[in-house]
Amino acid sequence: MNSHDVKINRIVQELRERKTTSPLSLRKRTVSHTVPKPKDKKYSDDKLDISDLDEIILIDVENRTCIAEPGVTFEKLVAATLKHDLVPAVVSELKTITIGGAVAGCSIESMSYKLGGFHDSCIEYEVVTAKGEVLKCTPNNENKLIFQMMHGTFGTLGIITLLKFRLLPAKKFVKVTYHKCKTLEEYKAEIWDHYIKKDLDFMDGIIHSPNEYVLSAGEFVDEAPYTHNYDWMRIYYLSTSKRQEDYLETSDYFFRYNKGVTNVHPKSLVCRLLFGRAMNSNNALKFANTFRKIIPPDSIPVTLDTFIPFSKMEEFTEWYIKEINHFPLWCVPYKVVHKYEWISDDFLKNVEDELFLDIALYGMRRKNPEYYYKILENKLSEIGAIKTLISTNLYSEKEFWSIWNKENYYNVKMRTDPDCIFRDLYDKTCRAARGLENGSDKEETNDFVM
Ligand SMILES: Cc1cc2nc3c(=O)[nH]c(=O)nc-3n(C[C@H](O)[C@H](O)[C@H](O)COP(=O)(O)OP(=O)(O)OC[C@H]3O[C@@H](n4cnc5c(N)ncnc54)[C@H](O)[C@@H]3O)c2cc1C
Repeated sequence: MNSHDVKINRIVQELRERKTTSPLSLRKRTVSHTVPKPKDKKYSDDKLDISDLDEIILIDVENRTCIAEPGVTFEKLVAATLKHDLVPAVVSELKTITIGGAVAGCSIESMSYKLGGFHDSCIEYEVVTAKGEVLKCTPNNENKLIFQMMHGTFGTLGIITLLKFRLLPAKKFVKVTYHKCKTLEEYKAEIWDHYIKKDLDFMDGIIHSPNEYVLSAGEFVDEAPYTHNYDWMRIYYLSTSKRQEDYLETSDYFFRYNKGVTNVHPKSLVCRLLFGRAMNSNNALKFANTFRKIIPPDSIPVTLDTFIPFSKMEEFTEWYIKEINHFPLWCVPYKVVHKYEWISDDFLKNVEDELFLDIALYGMRRKNPEYYYKILENKLSEIGAIKTLISTNLYSEKEFWSIWNKENYYNVKMRTDPDCIFRDLYDKTCRAARGLENGSDKEETNDFVM
């Protein structure tokens, strides 16, 4: 028996021998990249330890595929694949995001304008169900709906224990050219042009203010006249405003935002000089998790990822400036490569766009954060936009299932977790994450006030 099978046997055994149906959460080696939620019920759940699932099993250079366990971090993966001049098709910006978490929690990147999310590069998962059954899931076999529904359902449909995914050829360096636009119209035209031509390897950007939009156009190159990295004193998102172009070694490019995308710590020059090398988003999240009991919930900054249909950007931006007006924003063009099964058919009916802009808001400190989460949720629903579930979610159950696909979800849930030990998606991300008991918010209203 190989070492992966030994690990799976242990997990299967534990699940089969479990006597209770009380909620079960995963224990991983790396910190969870979700917004810290001090009252989250997951902290008191029983734990299933999957921290040993962190090995790369195979890099198939000829077929450009990789087989790896879910706890492998993008940092480890990029280092291993680059030795063969290959990289994963979509690489999350933070070094310690894991590939299993990337599928379950919707990871994206600057390749997403052509390729969608990391999960869109996956071709096979091994999934262990709540009752300890081991399933092979591909887009075409009898478990095809399970395969599709593992994306964005935050581990509530089973545990991904192995992934097979595509790799792409890479070069040693990335050249980034910064296109500066003064209006949204100009910015959208620039994005659309590259989207149609598919002439870049990478495209993302920073909206520094309502009249400063920067598009970062990246291309693999073999040689570089100089290189920068953003591991210590320099702050990447600020450099996009100052520089016209930049060269980075490929792995430094991927992890250019590792100190926090637009919410970089430490902020002062002196503190960065002293502690800047050691501080990164991983440590910041670890700190917040460790001290969650004494951190006042209102002091946790508003952080969320939104997927806005390209055609609705004007409407969203006009509303956003009036109601929220927090900048900078991170902007990642994202192609929905197929109609995702976890989104409800009714919701999709009203959305014609294939290109979305992932507008990410990080580190907004405001009094009464829930008010901002709620008005954002309402606006997003109104324009056919979606947010990922990494932060505070205030949807009522009815609102939630008008966006997420209840039928597909429960088709899979009944097969993989009928006793709901991984919680239901709404319960996990909207109730338990806020410390609420199942069903305790039945009378939910939208009366969040500033
Ligand atoms: C501050 C912040 C910054 C972020 N920046 C970026 C960014 O730059 N780029 C980007 O793409 N994304 C970013 N994200 C989003 C991030 O990609 C997702 O939150 C992702 O899910 C994190 O992966 P993780 O490995 O930390 O997973 P975790 O946080 O550990 O897990 C996420 C969810 O997936 C479940 N899960 C984890 N592993 C498995 C498994 N093996 N099987 C089944 N379910 C599993 C967990 O139970 C959990 O519900 C950011 C999030 C935050 C909070």
